[in-house]
Amino acid sequence: PELWQEVPLAPPDSIFKLTAAYKADTYPKKVNLGVGAYRDDDSKPWVLPVVKKATEKLLRNEALDHEYLPILGLPEYTAAAAKLILGSDSPALSESRAVSAQTISGTGANHLGALFLTKFYRFNGAKKVYLSNPTWANHHAIFRNVGIEPVDYPYYNPDTISLDLTGLIGSLQEAPPRSVFLLHACAHNPTGVDPTEEEWDTIANVMLEKNHYAFFDCAYQGFASGDLDKDAWAVRHFVQKGVPLLVCQSFAKNAGLYGERVGALHIVSPDKDTADRVRSQLSVLQRSEISNPPSHGARLVELILNDPEMFAEWKQDIKTMSGRIISMRKELHRLLTQVHNTPGNWDHILNQIGMFSFTGLNAEQSKAMIERAHVYMTGNGRISMAGLNSHNIEYFAESLDKVVR
Ligand code: PMP
Repeated sequence: PELWQEVPLAPPDSIFKLTAAYKADTYPKKVNLGVGAYRDDDSKPWVLPVVKKATEKLLRNEALDHEYLPILGLPEYTAAAAKLILGSDSPALSESRAVSAQTISGTGANHLGALFLTKFYRFNGAKKVYLSNPTWANHHAIFRNVGIEPVDYPYYNPDTISLDLTGLIGSLQEAPPRSVFLLHACAHNPTGVDPTEEEWDTIANVMLEKNHYAFFDCAYQGFASGDLDKDAWAVRHFVQKGVPLLVCQSFAKNAGLYGERVGALHIVSPDKDTADRVRSQLSVLQRSEISNPPSHGARLVELILNDPEMFAEWKQDIKTMSGRIISMRKELHRLLTQVHNTPGNWDHILNQIGMFSFTGLNAEQSKAMIERAHVYMTGNGRISMAGLNSHNIEYFAESLDKVVR
């Protein structure tokens, strides 16, 4: 028998399939709301002005070479990245008990975190991770790849188009002690529904009580509210309360560095001694996985985070992106409720946060949006707010109105 004869054909990635269908569509008013990347008001990718500046500065530095970075990454980058997410006054930093590794963006951070857990976490019985239902689809594959079985926890209530706090808390209480719960730090993907600060506190209390482990995924810091500190609130609150945790960090969205793959994994330990041992094992894992992380993107982010002027400019760029998305939410809500009088309540469009919005459209309606209106969105009713702009939002609102009537 021939080699690989038994390899089954894998299904295509659903977002990739959607993008291909959009590209093949010749309808002039077509809209792509599938992709999870920021677009400007002309549907174009946006290179942040501060990133352009940092790139020019890098190019002028003739001392730079292409040597390997240390195994855990560029130290000036990981230190600044840890400060950004944990807060510069974090007890985890002042007590030297946070360990940081530079990773292949957020995906790599999730992978390295999962790999570390599968090797070293004292699981209570079978290796399991609790994932919100729904979640970023890649979470399932990332944990399965390292032998950790995903289990769903309730998160989103389709009837209220909001957080199912009762279901979530119930799941935290029923899970065996020391269970691992993956939490989206802000701008939950795909629902756009985040717990309030009060709800986060309730979640933290139950996690402490049950000795659960928080696996934070933070792919949208600053991108959600426009405020880096606000979007890191949950992570910092959990650290303060002493919930054991790690954080996966990505600069894909908030710095528009998607293809440069700049990320970090931060593991907060109970004390410095433990942190030193964790660091040593993380180095061993990273060495066998990628040897050394890539340098270009980390150098850019390091410049931006450590230069006060560039840091201030970055915050403005983040406001430009989050501000445009928030204004699209307001405009869509206005068009649906005041212009079209679309049946139903659309307040969730305003209340949700970040790149994505769960419209509440069902699978049939989402399909109708594609087939009748050439508006490309996923079957779960999710739209990327970044795909909406002043040129297509009226057409989108009109199409949505027709489909739900
Ligand atoms: N986690 C979540 C929840 C995400 O939405 C994303 C981006 N789609 C990522 C992680 C990782 O993205 P990247 O690897 O590009 O940083």
